[in-house]
Amino acid sequence: MNATPFRFSIIVPTYNRRDILLDTVASVAATVRPWPCELIVVVDGSTDGTAEALGELVLPLPIKVLDLPNRGAAAARNAGAAVARGRVLLFLDDDMIVEPDLIIEHDKTLLAGADAVVGHIQIDDRSPVNILTRGVERWATERRVRLDLSGGRLGVEDFLTGQLSVRTEWFTKVGGFDRALTAHGTFGGEDTDLVYRLLQEGARARFAPNAVSYQRYVVSAEQNIRQWAQAGQSDAMLSRKHPGLGAVLSAGHRGDTIDGRLAQALSTLPQAPVRALSSRVVRRVNRGRMDLATEFVFAKVRDIAYWNGVRTRGGIVRNAPTGVSILAYHAIEEIDDPRVARYSVAPERFAAQISALVEAGYTFIDGDDLLEHLEGRPLKPRSVLLTFDDAYESMLTHAAPVLERHGIPAVVCVVSDEIGGYNAWDVAHGAGKLPLLTAEQLGEINGGGWELASHSRRHDHLTALRDADLRADLTGSRTAVAALGHGEARFLAYPYGEHDRRVRARTRRAGYAAAFALATARAHPFRGNRYALPRVEVRRDTTPVELLHALAHPARLDPRDVVRRELLGLASGVQASFRRARIHPGGESPGVTAIWCGDFDLAGDATSSMVPPRDETIMRVLVRLHGEPLGYVTLPRTGTPRDLDEIRAAAWRELGDPLVAHLIEEGAAIPEENERYGWRPAGQTRNCPNHVVSDALVSVVVCTRDRSESLPDCLDRLAAVTYRPVEFVIVDNAPSDDATRAVVERYAAADDRFRYVREPRPGLSCARNAGLAAARGPYLAYTDDDVAVDSGWIHGLIRGFQRRDDVACVTGLVCTAAISNGAEAYFDARLASWSTRCRPQFFDMSMSDRYGVLYPFSAGIFGTGASFAFDRERLVRAGGFDEALGAGTPTRGGEDLDIFVRILLDGGAIAYEPAAVVWHHHRADDESLLKQMYGYGSGLTAYLTKLLLDPSTRAQLLRRVPAGLLKIAQIRTRTNERLGDTVAAPQGAMRREFTGFLAGPLLYLRARRALERPR
Ligand SMILES: [Zn+2]
Ligand SMILES: [Zn+2]
Repeated sequence: MNATPFRFSIIVPTYNRRDILLDTVASVAATVRPWPCELIVVVDGSTDGTAEALGELVLPLPIKVLDLPNRGAAAARNAGAAVARGRVLLFLDDDMIVEPDLIIEHDKTLLAGADAVVGHIQIDDRSPVNILTRGVERWATERRVRLDLSGGRLGVEDFLTGQLSVRTEWFTKVGGFDRALTAHGTFGGEDTDLVYRLLQEGARARFAPNAVSYQRYVVSAEQNIRQWAQAGQSDAMLSRKHPGLGAVLSAGHRGDTIDGRLAQALSTLPQAPVRALSSRVVRRVNRGRMDLATEFVFAKVRDIAYWNGVRTRGGIVRNAPTGVSILAYHAIEEIDDPRVARYSVAPERFAAQISALVEAGYTFIDGDDLLEHLEGRPLKPRSVLLTFDDAYESMLTHAAPVLERHGIPAVVCVVSDEIGGYNAWDVAHGAGKLPLLTAEQLGEINGGGWELASHSRRHDHLTALRDADLRADLTGSRTAVAALGHGEARFLAYPYGEHDRRVRARTRRAGYAAAFALATARAHPFRGNRYALPRVEVRRDTTPVELLHALAHPARLDPRDVVRRELLGLASGVQASFRRARIHPGGESPGVTAIWCGDFDLAGDATSSMVPPRDETIMRVLVRLHGEPLGYVTLPRTGTPRDLDEIRAAAWRELGDPLVAHLIEEGAAIPEENERYGWRPAGQTRNCPNHVVSDALVSVVVCTRDRSESLPDCLDRLAAVTYRPVEFVIVDNAPSDDATRAVVERYAAADDRFRYVREPRPGLSCARNAGLAAARGPYLAYTDDDVAVDSGWIHGLIRGFQRRDDVACVTGLVCTAAISNGAEAYFDARLASWSTRCRPQFFDMSMSDRYGVLYPFSAGIFGTGASFAFDRERLVRAGGFDEALGAGTPTRGGEDLDIFVRILLDGGAIAYEPAAVVWHHHRADDESLLKQMYGYGSGLTAYLTKLLLDPSTRAQLLRRVPAGLLKIAQIRTRTNERLGDTVAAPQGAMRREFTGFLAGPLLYLRARRALERPR
């Protein structure tokens, strides 16, 4: 007999929530389970008849009900685990409604190598809409985005047991949940505790973004404040149970920022005024007030409650001596020159220092260990990482032999413009010359197992650089180190240890995983300071004993230091923004890094692109498998066949999860880690998730106006689509001559799928409606004449329609075809949400407030008219496109948004389907971009005017106005953030858009009147 007959044991602890629990159980029963699973409900002392109600259920899977006296959630989960017979334990809270494929998604991630998996939690629609639910949503969304960026690696703060699976052997190995943490109603600590112990034992924890459950979040404002106070208590307890965790917990509540300090200070004051404030804000929250002031005050009150909780348990213990210390060395040679001698350690002394560390039992870690530690993996007590700044030749001649003898790793930080040169930055101030390692010697360093990192290009004071120079320095130096051929530069050591908020942000955006600073006061590196990792500077006069002493007795970082540093950062940020304003007077166009944009199918053997590559040094590649987009990788480009190997390697590194998921769904073999180099997937099979079967006729409508020269490019791409039952309706909109007709008739003569339709009334909406009238298929796909469709585009659209029965509209992935100047870079950044999402998404009216208060009136989340398709009947029923909106009318836009909302209000769903790929060539110069920006602005507000005029939507819209204004104000910051390291917004782009916003309502009224006039 098999001792573990079940794949999953689903364990649900519950306490006095019978009805909510029954919904949860029903959703579990409805999951897809291709293998035997069992359900274990642990009734933790409920008195509301839960056990009896469960006894009456008839379920499609075996259920075990444990009816126990109340002992807290952790004890209940352990009790469930004790009787479980599954190979994997899936813990669900009793208020989680799960999606049908939840268990499948957990299984996929486990199969891909995870030992513990948490999924994505959203708020159930039946939860009240208030600041609390919005806060939880926001947290979950931010976590999802952040984990997507980090490849799904979970840190200790990312864990909640609401939806968690863990391999049974790991759960047993770490001894389950710590019951002490929830026994007296303490909230939250057992999750962190469990994952900390899992990580400590070497388990791999991963995020499964597609494992979705919906939480019925019914918590009052008072309860929430109490939970935060309890979380403060449990964090304080945890920091004692696990020395080394305290710093992470404190950073999680921003304990080292001015904000956090302020909350801590307030929590020590007499609490009467806080309580008065608290009861007022609690009333407002419970009444459903969601304005910014309420949110702000509530957040403060809650922070104070947290720090109060922390204080009642004696505070969070930080800087316990178990973290890692990082040592900063420079030259290892005997030097007389007084200017540099202080930072040079004589070879004999260096050898003595290392021996002392070895004898004292220090563990020498490498860059990988450090990065994992920053993600929350604990290290052995007394761990140390060696770094060597400037990459002096003496590192190789004097330090390397010592390190080699003991097998000690190190990180060597290279001044990339001076490779093979000397310390020019010191020499400029009168110091003697010291030789730096040559490229060849750096190869020897790497061959010895020592990692190369960046120490900037020229050892400039980074905080003093202009923004463009700073960005060029950070990316240039990183690229130069990578170009040595010994791997990526993952770390940056700031020259002179200098950094501020701007430098740290640029460093992060330049792609470094972490950065080294110097610190006089010694703190331990942890995630909160990964771009300012403190290092202990080792100097000529540091004796071995002093070194050991410094490592063993880390001084507490003075709170005043923290605040001072923060203020300095703020000041330099303000200064920098003034500096930036001065640098670009009156429209000077800053330099842009040209990026080659293309795609690559892992099953193929060449990249392809809309615009042929020139001499770009960076490539952004859409990686696909059997046509399905897995995601983007951005890499240095050499233009040699080596690029393909790099893309393949990056695909495993950065897109491993969707890649493995595809292979599993296809039933294909997954190569072991050591077989991945040079691995090629087999061809597409019938089981491929991207394999679509349909014989429905699809009518493709292209609306064009006086672009007969470029139209053939568009039509050629259409003729090449692989989907068979298709017709192409080319709508010639208010043409000034017969050129377009001639082009289309030439195509129609050779290929009877092409048809010509003329629409004399100007305007994109009129043209689209003409296409709708002429179309014969049950599905209608629209694209623009400046768009190049992928050969699998229509298959992708059909896949979207087939995902759910109620899909009335499918939008697709619109990829940027080229980035060669500022205008194109701006568009690319601005339209990020249409060009980067590689996961399917659904939108329907049941999701009100899931996508923010503006939903469904939020521009841009659904997709774009450059690529969308409709169920024809439903489009007709919704009334087609509004002819007062859109390009070619005074309002110049808004029609896409309008039709999306009407489709939703009609009860249809919109599916965003990344497998439907098109390439869009953004308008190539500043002038046309400004026109376009005006159109975005005027289109949006014209559309909003329409909603205001319509009594059925007016109330809904007005409720959303304040949030809408906020969102418009954020467009600028968001776009600038994404532009960040590439380019500044063209002069005037935002102003044009705002002008458009203001003009929109008038233009809409004018367009409406024009339509009402007899034609
Ligand atoms: Zn240096
Ligand atoms: Zn496939």
